[in-house]
Amino acid sequence: MATIADNLQAVRERIARACAAAGRDPSGVTLLAVSKTFGPQAVAEAAAAGQRAFGENYVQEGVDKIVALRHAGVHGLQWHCIGPLQSNKTRLVAEHFDWVQSVDRLKVAQRLSDQRPADRPPLQVCLQVNVDGAPTKAGVAPQQLVPLAQAVVALPRLRLRGIMCIPDPQPDAAAMRAVFAQAARLFDALRAALGHPPELDTLSMGMSDDLEQAIAAGSTMVRVGSAIFGRRVYAGRG
Ligand SMILES: *Cc1c(COP(=O)(O)O)cnc(C)c1O
Repeated sequence: MATIADNLQAVRERIARACAAAGRDPSGVTLLAVSKTFGPQAVAEAAAAGQRAFGENYVQEGVDKIVALRHAGVHGLQWHCIGPLQSNKTRLVAEHFDWVQSVDRLKVAQRLSDQRPADRPPLQVCLQVNVDGAPTKAGVAPQQLVPLAQAVVALPRLRLRGIMCIPDPQPDAAAMRAVFAQAARLFDALRAALGHPPELDTLSMGMSDDLEQAIAAGSTMVRVGSAIFGRRVYAGRG
């Protein structure tokens, strides 16, 4: 059976091939390992294989893992909250995570900024954009992105790093790539609207099944779960 280290290597090779095909430098694409539903041991295994950045969807599960890894003596990891964010969970996120990629409204951003502890660096933030406009989905509408970003930039304890999107699967690779290209255009327009701040460098898109199309369209961060850790089993989760 393939180990987590084997899977990580295979994903790194996929990223390298996709970058080569797009004429891009592989150092321009960060791999975020999405460890939701997997235990601290799986994270420790990936960390031992050189993985540093981890993504979690469920706040309490993520915090428990962050604490467990620290107690196990695994240091230097970077934790990203990538799941839907309710106002009553912002304090835990502000206190424990390094990044939040799922901010889609100002109220949540304000709470995160207010609650970020003074002894920690600013919380790194991506705004989640509902790029394909699916009515029931999380994310700010594309037309609302620039005003939200302008308000977030003004918050003292947040640092706006870019946008994140989770487009619905498309019937084929070309259609998938077209949706990602739309997100890339939104990202470029946002950077222009804010005057090209150098830290606004993150276009987070692409997962296990579509990272090649996302990289072709300009993704700078792919979020990969099942291709690294295996199939997820959801046990009675809401
Ligand atoms: C679960 C999840 C991923 C990873 O999905 P895989 O298909 O397992 O790679 C990436 N991003 C978000 C926001 C997720 O919730």
